[in-house]
Amino acid sequence: MFKLRFRQIHLDFHTSEQIPGIGSRFDPEEFAETLARARVNSVTAFSKCHHGLIYHETRFEARHPHLQRNLLKEQIDACHARDIRVPIYISVGFDEFMARRHPEWLEVDGNGRRTGAAPLQPGWHKLCFNSPYLDYVLEQTLEVMELFAPVDGFFFDIIGQGQCHCPFCLDSMRQEGLNPEEEADRLRFAKRVVDRFKRRFTAAIRERSADCSIFYNSGHIYPDWRPILDTYTHLELESLPSGGWGYLHFPLTVRYARTLGFDYLAMTGKFHKSWGDFSSYKNLPALEYDCFTALAYGAKCSVGDQLHPTGQLSRATYDLIGAVYRQVEAKEPWCDDVVPEVEIGLFNPEAVGNADARVDTSAAGAQRMLTEGHHQFDVIDAANDWSRYRVILLPDKIPMTEEIRGKVAEYLAGGGSLITSYESGMGPDKRGFVIPGMPAGFIEPAEFSPDFVVARDPLAEALGDAEQVMYDRGILLKPAADAEVLADIWNPYFNRTWEHFCSHSHTPCERPSGAPAVVQRGRIIQFAHPIFAMYQRHGVRAYKQMVLSALARLLPDPLVKTDAPSTAHLTVNRQPEQRRSVLHILHYIPERRANTLDTIEDVIPLYHLRVALKREQEPARVYLAPSGDEVACTYRDGYAEVVVPEVRGHQMVVFED
Ligand SMILES: [Zn+2]
Repeated sequence: MFKLRFRQIHLDFHTSEQIPGIGSRFDPEEFAETLARARVNSVTAFSKCHHGLIYHETRFEARHPHLQRNLLKEQIDACHARDIRVPIYISVGFDEFMARRHPEWLEVDGNGRRTGAAPLQPGWHKLCFNSPYLDYVLEQTLEVMELFAPVDGFFFDIIGQGQCHCPFCLDSMRQEGLNPEEEADRLRFAKRVVDRFKRRFTAAIRERSADCSIFYNSGHIYPDWRPILDTYTHLELESLPSGGWGYLHFPLTVRYARTLGFDYLAMTGKFHKSWGDFSSYKNLPALEYDCFTALAYGAKCSVGDQLHPTGQLSRATYDLIGAVYRQVEAKEPWCDDVVPEVEIGLFNPEAVGNADARVDTSAAGAQRMLTEGHHQFDVIDAANDWSRYRVILLPDKIPMTEEIRGKVAEYLAGGGSLITSYESGMGPDKRGFVIPGMPAGFIEPAEFSPDFVVARDPLAEALGDAEQVMYDRGILLKPAADAEVLADIWNPYFNRTWEHFCSHSHTPCERPSGAPAVVQRGRIIQFAHPIFAMYQRHGVRAYKQMVLSALARLLPDPLVKTDAPSTAHLTVNRQPEQRRSVLHILHYIPERRANTLDTIEDVIPLYHLRVALKREQEPARVYLAPSGDEVACTYRDGYAEVVVPEVRGHQMVVFED
């Protein structure tokens, strides 16, 4: 497996052709020294940017018109002299230089418009991956391989294709027996085009380099990459929490990405907001959070920056990055070659084409419930090995294709436990549940909404004896004869309509509906409402409590027990070679500090945190890392219990076998 370095920079350099003096203040020695001082050991540097301009000697016309030196070559040589890797960046989907010269190579939408910025707007234009443009990109890539042999690796950016209606695509679709009038066929073709691009480029690169790294970036890790993953050497998870991805994207995506068998990194940015945000600086605790979260999930770190047109790195930026990377370096021995210790699998709605956004609402709700409950879980699809999970969650809208149904049945037969909600577990036609042994059958969508939940004894601790409003519409279930109802649905007097309404919001609770809200049969617990998306949409703590209480019935002895607040995130990584497990405790609280921006400004320490980690045997030694301070440990009932004296942002606790 290709191994990534821990402390990387992704050094953007999209630089307008109208800016003079490119590289005029570049000093190779100062450049490498600045990186080395910030403890950087890999920097992704630019061959060709989104403007389509090239930053080194080249036979192509697109060399930046004001480039004053052989910039990339000098960057590589200076960095290599200090053992800093330099993977090479090539922009594929955006290339303004070629977009202007060959507008016929641009993607075209269904109205015949070329996609991208309007004629009088600044911005990028998207090239079609089925046009002759790709021949040019390949030629340029191969030139880079000759000029800089042996190259460390490639980072190809803006890899994707929309439903292109350009003449090349219409012709190709007809030739391949696809119907351009059908959206499904257009999407199938777009995927095919991108997959072919990856195969073609990796094959061409491999003819010339057996081992350089290759990554194709689309700003996310998509489940439908599985069949094409052999064209990658590793995964880079671009995810700038303040730059449109949000704070939920990275944890959710990495929990899936880490099951795919590659080394992987977390790419954040040093920017206050997002890419291209010149002369802005992320708050130090916010950058610490991104990098230490990466470590807690077994990822390496990459911080995005953009080099100034003069070629000089910003001292303030590298002081900031260095302040974090020095800490990362000290933590690395406990973060290398790790395997997550997990016991829950959360099925990825993206894998069945049901994600409602890059961060799906139901998956995000489940992720928050489990993380706030300090549970250890992966995000999975039908291709994962499910035998390692004690409980699998099918959130809200996971239909049972034949493949998934077979997988679920096999998993249940092997003694696994299942939590489903709403329509998960139904056949693709949504006419009924098809999982063997489901606690309840489907009657119809609920007539009333919002409705209410009243707990029976098993969930009374979570909900108390009060009715709880359920804001989103559920379904009516008919429990099997041997199923146990854990909570009931109560109905309002009527739905709120023009004919009858009451007060400012939904109608008050009136009577039992006779249908269950939560029902259990053996090792399956079923929720009638889309409870996971509801938690993400409405943030009602009782929704989380219902799920966590149900989960406790299936998983009474979780890997981690703690009195930590819900703002603390705990993960456990195993280092098999060192025969030890490393518990990560993160305590940073992202806060909305601007209309549309979350960030972190302060570190709120936690003191005397009680954590019990499930262990087969009493650990030989428990200590804090990297300080090495020993921690007293009590071993009883299969748990090694410690009191962590202080968590200042991030603390690792090491349990040696
Ligand atoms: Zn096209």
